Amino acid sequence: MDPRLLEILACPICKGALRHDRSAQELICDIDRLAYPIRDGIPIMMVDQARQLDPADPHEGASPAAGAPQVQDPQG
Ligand SMILES: [Zn+2]
Repeated sequence: MDPRLLEILACPICKGALRHDRSAQELICDIDRLAYPIRDGIPIMMVDQARQLDPADPHEGASPAAGAPQVQDPQG
């Protein structure tokens, strides 16, 4: 994903900056504890498409319950 794109993206709820989780292909708002999916390189900035993160888990993205196989990120 283009890092410049990340700079112009903001959370639709709090207008705050988002964090790019490469392994999960999600854009994460730490304030709202929401993860917006990235599909085919396009961030889906819709609240009803976002995944609610567990506020009790300080290591979101490290969950072993995803069930998704590890894939190489072509962008490195
Ligand atoms: Zn937010």
